[in-house]
Amino acid sequence: MKGKITPSLKKYFDSREFRERYHYDGVLGALWAPGKTTFRLWAPTAQDVTLRLFKRGRGGRALEQFPLAPGEQGVWSLEVPGDLDGVYYDYRVTVDGVTRRTADPYAVACGLEGGRSMVVDLRRTDPEGWAEDRAPARQPETVIYELHVKDFSWDPASGVKPEWRGKFKAFCQEDATLNGDGVHPTCLPYLRGLGVTHVQLLPVFDYGSVAEGGDPAEYNWGYDPVNYNVPEGSYSTDPADGAVRIRELKEAVQSLHKNGLRVIMDVVYNHTYHLDSWLWRTVPGYYCRQRTDGTPSNGSGCGNDLASERSMCGKYILDSVLYWAEEYHIDGFRFDLMGLLDAPLMNRIRRALDRRYGPGEKVMLGEPWSASDTAARPGTRLANKGNLTRLNRGVAAFCDATRDAVKGSLFDGEAAGFVNGGGLDAEELACCLRGWADGWEGAPHSPAQTVNYLSCHDDWTLWDKLIQTGGRAPDFQSLHPELLRQNKLAAAIDLTCQGTLFFLAGEEFARTKYGVKNSYRSPAELNRLDWNRAWENRALVDYYRGLIALRKQAPGLMDKSEQAAARLLTGGQEADDCAGYLLDNSGNSPWHTLALIYNASLETVSVYLPEGTWEVLVDGESSFLWQNPGTVEHVVAVPPVSALILGQR
Ligand code: CA
Repeated sequence: MKGKITPSLKKYFDSREFRERYHYDGVLGALWAPGKTTFRLWAPTAQDVTLRLFKRGRGGRALEQFPLAPGEQGVWSLEVPGDLDGVYYDYRVTVDGVTRRTADPYAVACGLEGGRSMVVDLRRTDPEGWAEDRAPARQPETVIYELHVKDFSWDPASGVKPEWRGKFKAFCQEDATLNGDGVHPTCLPYLRGLGVTHVQLLPVFDYGSVAEGGDPAEYNWGYDPVNYNVPEGSYSTDPADGAVRIRELKEAVQSLHKNGLRVIMDVVYNHTYHLDSWLWRTVPGYYCRQRTDGTPSNGSGCGNDLASERSMCGKYILDSVLYWAEEYHIDGFRFDLMGLLDAPLMNRIRRALDRRYGPGEKVMLGEPWSASDTAARPGTRLANKGNLTRLNRGVAAFCDATRDAVKGSLFDGEAAGFVNGGGLDAEELACCLRGWADGWEGAPHSPAQTVNYLSCHDDWTLWDKLIQTGGRAPDFQSLHPELLRQNKLAAAIDLTCQGTLFFLAGEEFARTKYGVKNSYRSPAELNRLDWNRAWENRALVDYYRGLIALRKQAPGLMDKSEQAAARLLTGGQEADDCAGYLLDNSGNSPWHTLALIYNASLETVSVYLPEGTWEVLVDGESSFLWQNPGTVEHVVAVPPVSALILGQR
């Protein structure tokens, strides 16, 4: 079987003996200096390693080749004199008599399609002013906007220059407007006004499923890593020049920073594009998990789970995260299938980021699950839902419980949640509001560990889900008023749950993928943000904006401490499909108490209020009422399928 190793080799890789003999703590890769470049490759099972230098990133004969010398801890190394900036290279690594050509797993630059690495003077790739680039000041709340580079500007209506559409450079166009009308902001200026604090980019490291020199319309989400420490070439204006993609991603980060947004990177350290990766070719078998018979473990669904618990694999992942944080000024990391990585590694990454940048400065979040079981070394504690309490409280996890409670399971299109006719479970809704951090066994430490979301790149968009449960398929395009009410109610619940907030780009304008559930390789045309729709549906966008703005003034909602759960004072069912809760909102806010009322029923419900005067901050129509609030006392009527948020001074 492909990728099978002997059970004894698997045991050896898992052993303490191997770790002690070969673990290497130093710097690996091609370390450029003006007068020489030092090449270091960790390949403890190799009998021979040869370096080859090339003029171009693809094709052509080697200019020169040199043997590397074996040294301590399995590291092969060589110094090559001269200025090698812009020189491409690869290795030939011989293990057990088999010679494999490989790029450098530690490469920071590469040629077209990523098959060859490149030596680079990284300072040459810095855009002007890069040394002064700083992330915008931290906001009181984290609101993450999940975005694919190509989706962002593929639509010609985005008004982005044609040569920048679908590229990193689109993030640099500060004057983008709808069809260039100069009136309706799109892309970067649109994001600036939304109130989100972080843009989370789907994979921007080099991935393998899109031809870099091919048709610009080729599309993939990019969960198929090839070069972990190099940006993806198809997002650059010149993928054949290894320096350009680096500079252009830095320019995008710099521009987002300048416009008040922090940047989170989606990182996929749980598997590689193919089992036959650079990691495999360098040290066959080591970086992947095997079952006891030596066959590859497949918890990722991609046929090769990285063995994060093996020390040099863990180091590889940690080094990579720190590299992106340092070299590209990345402000946070979203770990794909985090449930496949080991919890101690996640905690080491958290501590290292905190030490370098200050506690909590860099965001960490991840999917606390895997596609199926993985064959980690026995005794490994995985960073999954069952182990949240073993994770540092600065490692947050996506919360599928709230997601499904609000709008229904993602496994069945017609399964409804609270807002779309699935019925009320007032206790469950209270758990959602507390970010599930309420002391049950296995609960998160605090809402700091909970990521609330209703939609992400996976599965149906929120709108497409509501279309199905509302019996409106196949008309995904029309803005059905009753579904817009459900969407607003869902958003109001989500944005009043304690925890970190996250939503898929376009959720705020009823983004549709026409019912396509898994659009990872659907056409760019289907995946792209439809900027005309964003403006047609401005009312919904404004509703999200108002909720986000209110949230930033609500200490009771933003509280990430272990005492946050106690802020939910009382509450429960008010009527069929209607629940109300009181929240202690003390802190820096005009309102000491909030009343949160959610009515999913088709009837108007009268809700009795505690003593005193209540200001109406949000209702089913507007989330900006708090700017100039009216007041109610004693009893309030809550219209069908709507939220009502009240505040008391
Ligand atoms: Ca690529």
